[in-house]
This record gives sequence, C-alpha cells and structure tokens, in this order.
Amino acid sequence: MIGKKSIPRNRRYTYHPAIVESHVILTKDTMFILQNQPIFDTVLVSRQIQDMDKKYNFKNFEENIYSFWEKEGYFKAKVNSSKDPFCIILPPPNANADLHLGHAMYTYEDVMIRYHKLLGYETLWLAGADHAGIETQFVYEKHLKKQGKSRFDFDRKTLFSDIWKFVMQNRNTMENQLRKLGFALDWSKKKFTMDEDIVSIVYKTFKHMFDDGMVYRANRLVNYCTSCGTSFSDLEVADREHTGKLYYITYSVKEGGSVTIATTRPETYLGDVAVMVHPGDARYKSLVGKTVLLPITNREIPIIADEYVDPKFGTGAVKVTPNHDFNDFEIGKKHGLSHPPIIGFDGHMKDTGLEDIDGVYVVKARKLIVAKLEEQGFLEKITPHEMVLHTCYRCGTTLEPLPKEQWFIDVGPLKEKAIEQVKNDEIHVHPKRFKKQLIQILENFIDWNVSRQIVWGIQIPAYKCQKKNEWFISVEKPKKCQICGNCAFVQDEDTFDTWFSSAQWPFATLMANCDCDGSDGFFDYFYPTTVMETGYDILRAWVSRMIMVGYFETKDIPFQHIFLHGMVRDPKGQKMSKSKGNVINPLDMIEKYGADALRATLIFGTKEGGDVVLSEDKIVAMRNFCNKVWNIGRFIEMSKTNVVIPAKAGIQSGSVPMKMGIGVEDDISETLKQLQKEFGTVQKQYHLHFKKFEFAKAFDLMYDFLWHRYADYYIEQLKECMQNGNIDASQYMVKVYYSCLQMLHPYIPFVTEVIWKSFHGEDSSIMDSRFET
Ligand SMILES: [Zn+2]
Ligand SMILES: [Zn+2]
Repeated sequence: MIGKKSIPRNRRYTYHPAIVESHVILTKDTMFILQNQPIFDTVLVSRQIQDMDKKYNFKNFEENIYSFWEKEGYFKAKVNSSKDPFCIILPPPNANADLHLGHAMYTYEDVMIRYHKLLGYETLWLAGADHAGIETQFVYEKHLKKQGKSRFDFDRKTLFSDIWKFVMQNRNTMENQLRKLGFALDWSKKKFTMDEDIVSIVYKTFKHMFDDGMVYRANRLVNYCTSCGTSFSDLEVADREHTGKLYYITYSVKEGGSVTIATTRPETYLGDVAVMVHPGDARYKSLVGKTVLLPITNREIPIIADEYVDPKFGTGAVKVTPNHDFNDFEIGKKHGLSHPPIIGFDGHMKDTGLEDIDGVYVVKARKLIVAKLEEQGFLEKITPHEMVLHTCYRCGTTLEPLPKEQWFIDVGPLKEKAIEQVKNDEIHVHPKRFKKQLIQILENFIDWNVSRQIVWGIQIPAYKCQKKNEWFISVEKPKKCQICGNCAFVQDEDTFDTWFSSAQWPFATLMANCDCDGSDGFFDYFYPTTVMETGYDILRAWVSRMIMVGYFETKDIPFQHIFLHGMVRDPKGQKMSKSKGNVINPLDMIEKYGADALRATLIFGTKEGGDVVLSEDKIVAMRNFCNKVWNIGRFIEMSKTNVVIPAKAGIQSGSVPMKMGIGVEDDISETLKQLQKEFGTVQKQYHLHFKKFEFAKAFDLMYDFLWHRYADYYIEQLKECMQNGNIDASQYMVKVYYSCLQMLHPYIPFVTEVIWKSFHGEDSSIMDSRFET
C-alpha cells in the first residue's frame, strides 16, 4: 500500500529501453548521411591541433574544466516536465573532516549522474554536509586539549557556538576536495544537517512520532562512555576480544553456611540485589529463599532462582546487579529488585557504603576492592577468562552500562513496512546479495535510543513541565508550558543521535529546497529519489533507518534503488588505517596522477559491491589509459587534417568516395563493417551493464574496446587510408571515437571533456551531447 503522497508509477525511474536496442547500423546509405553531419571541420581542426600536447597534462585542465562546468550551470537541476528525473542525494560527508578514499567511492554516483545526463534525464545530485555529532565534538575536544582546555571549561551555549565556528572554517575544505574529484554536484542546493530548515523538518518528524505514540521515555541501561561523556547506540559499540579474569567471591548465608559466586566485575558487587541460581540446580535447592550478607558491608540480599542462569558458568551461582549489567537489568525488573547505581556518569564509584571506595575511578576501585576481599577472606580464587569487552569506538574506553532516562523510538511499526518494501522490490537492492542482509537487519532492529549527551548536535525539542513532571514536544521554541500553562519549563539538554537526522536526509534535503527554482513542484518531481549509493558498512546504521523514517514521514519510499559499494583496501587486502601506516590520501593521488586516474582506479576491474584493492601501480595504469585516450584523439586530429572534405553542401547521398586502389577499397569496407558490427555489440553491452548496475563491467568493456580493439587493431588496419584521406574510414572512426568519449565520460570526465572541446570548440561541452538513440 502506498499512501496519499504516492508518486504515480509512470513517474518512477525506468531505464530508457530504446537505448539498449539502438546502435549505429552502418550501411552504404548511412555512411553518406553521416557525411552530411558536421562531424568535423577542417579549419577548426587545424587550429586546434597545435593545442593538443603530446602527453595529456591533467594539471593544465582539471581545475579550469570544473569551474567551467560549475559556472555554466551544468550541475544545476530544475523541474523539467519534458524530462524524466534522475536524482541521487549525496551521503553527507562530515563537514569537518578531510576527504578520504571512502568519499572518493562516491565516484559511482557521479558515474550514474553523468551517464543519465547523457541519456537525456534531468539529473540532480544534491550536495550536503553532516554535523557528525560525536565525531566532530571529539575532534574539537582534542583541539581544546592542545590549548590546555577541556569541554568542561565552557557552558553549553559557548561550547556549541565555538564548535559551530570551528566546523564552518573547515567546511570549505571538504567541499573543495569533492570538486577536485570532478563530482557533478548541484552546489546551489547544498544542505547542512544543522541548517535551520533541516532542523525544523527533523523536529516535525519527531513530533509526528511522539503524537503517534511511537516515542517513549524510559529509564534503561545505556552503553555509556565515561570518557566521551555520552551514551552510544548498540551499533556504535566496538567489541574487543579480551582475556579477563573470573573472580570467585564467597558470600555468607545469614541462616548459616556460604555460597560462592563467579563474576568478571567484582567492583560492582556493592550494587548487588540478589544471588541467583538455576531452579533445577540440586546443589543450591536448599539455599533458594535464604538471605546472604554482602561481604564487608553486610547489606542483606535474597537468594533467588531463575532459569536464566547457566549452571555450568563458574559455580552455578551468580550475582545480580541491575544497574550495571544489561541482562541483570531485565532480571531485576522481573523480580522487582532494585538498588541505586554505585557508579556515576563520571566513571567514579558512589554510594557504595564504603567511604574509602566512594569517589574512586572504577578501574582503580576494582583493584582496591579485590585486595580488601582477599584480605578479609572473601576471595576464593581468580581464574583467566576469555570474554568480549564492549568499548567506545571513538576512544577505546570500556563502556559502562549505566541507567539513564532517554528517548526511545518504537521501531516495531516502522520496520514492518520497510521489510515489505524491500521484500517486494519496491526498493531494489544492488548487488542482489545485499537484499537478504538488509531484510535481516530490519527484522532484528530493536527500539532506537535517540538521546545523546553531547552538545554538538540537534538539541531534542522536548520540554519538561516543572509542575507536573511531564514532557511535551514543540517544533517552535514554546512561549509557555504546554502542559500546565505557566511553569518555567526546561528543555532536554540531550541532542539527537546523528543518525536520527541523517535518516531523514533524502526527503529533508528535497523539502528544504522546495522553492529553490521558484517552482513548488521540486519535491514532487524528484521524490522518491532514484538511487541511494553508499558503502555496505552502513547498511544497518543508515540505509535501514532511511527506509523506515522516510516512509513514516512521506508515506513513500525514500529511494527506488540502493547501490552499495565496497571498502578500499591496501594491496595486501588490509583495511587502511593510520596505525598500520598504509593510508593512501586521495588528494595526493589526484595531485600526482589526476582525478580521472584515481576515479578509474576505484572502479576498474572491481566486482560490484566488493572491496577495492588500491595500489599506486593501478593508478599509474589508469593514468596511462587516460593518456591513451588522449593520444588516440591526437592521432585522429592529425589524420583528419589530411582529409580533404568537400564543402558540406557538396556532399550528396550517393556521391562517390575518394578513389583508392582496386581491392584496397574492398578491404577497407570489410574492416569498417567489422568495426560497425563489433562496436554495435559493445554499445549494446555497455548500456545493458548500466541497466544492471554493473558499472565496473561497463568501464572494463570500454577500456578494452578502445585500447585493444579500436587503437591496436582498427587504427592499425585503417591508419594508412585515413592518412591518405579516405573519408569513409576517417568519418566512421571519428564517429566511433566520439561515442567512446561519451561512454567513458562518466568515469573519466576531465580528459573526455578536454578532448571534446578540442574537437568541438572551447565553448562546447560533452555534457551537452547525448548518446545516440
Ligand atoms: Zn569514548
Ligand atoms: Zn508546566
């Protein structure tokens, strides 16, 4: 079911079927028709030939070409009812960070955009930037640290406005780096996740969810980094294998005897609410219902039975500490047992009942407590224990499960619809193997904690009535309390999880641009967007959420296709990281070999959605290919100057081509027919690859054809007669070459544009040309 805002099916993206069928049929007749087209002009050619250097020097062109495109408005999209829309929203890079190879992978988006432009679609590739909450605040705090300061030296407002300035200073860097890659982004419509209009849309979505009863506030354990000062969602937790220790602690039973429990976190025993055993465990049957005394403090807690316990773990008896362990939190709720937390949000112990432990940092507290237990005879033994540590993905600190009141979104109703849309191919997933994965991700989605305790983010528009202790949500800053009408209500200090705003990115960016060209149909024209292209690593964190939230707010899918690209790896197949020292900086590569060479490297010879192995050798090879494309152009230009072309008006259908030696002419026409047939197949395959989202295959095909067939074979065969002025051969070779330039343009836009201009004049652009249909 598609709701009220649904776009008619016929407005959805469908591939131009005509293009797949069409290729040039070269007959004697069409050859003469071709001659009637002003394919080349001898005067222009001889003027331009001096301009084509022996080697393609990208440094002379790339920057100028990009400014030309931008200045002439080639990237600007508008509502154009005579054309079909093709729209991609750029996954917004962190406004504050430098470009890395992950961003360079957006080349796939540029390939799709440029290809569809040449097909005649109205293309929009919308630029943007993300405030990247915790990432950015973390970078800013490091910056503060260098000046001997910390975030605690500033109030909320000052800290926020300082980070804002810091980000704005750096934002241009990221944008200019995207320009260097040649990306055909519509900069006139760029959006930042913290733009006022975006924030207002994000607020409206939250309010709609609240009004629909999908938002609730709950006191739950969160993964809290006491060093970063914020909680993280499950997705942001970095798991680390670790050889820890299992501590066996003996608790005295009030009624007589003792019980020994095993725990990996001895310091939390001070917050215990019970000792728990399995109900079927004969060893402990007589103990259930009795009371134990906590070592040292002698606080009394019960012995309870629950099937949750694994009798094989440790001694078969465990402690229950609801405020500091996720499983125990549920057990505590089930049995109605609670005790205040004994670790604070600063990571220091509190309310333990032991004066010398209160105020001590948790890592140190463990050592002190273990020593105390041992000294007083409560520690039976310590054994090594293999375990998984949940750590902060930012700073590596072990995360502390801590109870905190937060906002949660009930994803139940959201995920149901999303699963249906993916299953029914309302949203197509490419490559196909990711479809199952996406469905699984959606099925396993748990309620989403959207509260973050950081300053750098979109502050949650929730306000608490001071009289009734109830919350209300308001999109606008409220003038009075919407609960009681006259209290000094307080806004929630927390900010939204960054993914909450980015989940709304496809519709929010288009809505915020709705009056950009004076026509109010902008959103309706481009939404749902055509393709969402991003790395497979954020399928769960981002893609799945965009589908859920996108449908909730627009009653439509946010995109019709998902295309996922792989990660960039070093020649050994390892992930690139600073610590390994194997990071390749894309900007250095552009500086050295040109943007075209880098772009081609990321796509050539890869498997769709598979990881890309990047080496400098491969970039060199792609640079050589760009030179090859250039040199073929030079050859063609030089051979054309020898062609004596009759005045255009003088070429008539049926006029006799230049006389050649008898027999030679037959060979030439055979070769041309062969080329015509082969190139027809290549064109057909190329467009089919695009239809199937096989962008690497389309590029590999053109690389192979242009270099190994067109240049190595056909030019060799026809060189002599082209230089001797055979019009048939020359014109058809030129025509095929132009088509190849168009077909390569999406991948290597700069060199193809430079050559195009050198043939067609400074003011021309390959972006104005269209594939032949
Ligand atoms: Zn941290
Ligand atoms: Zn009130």
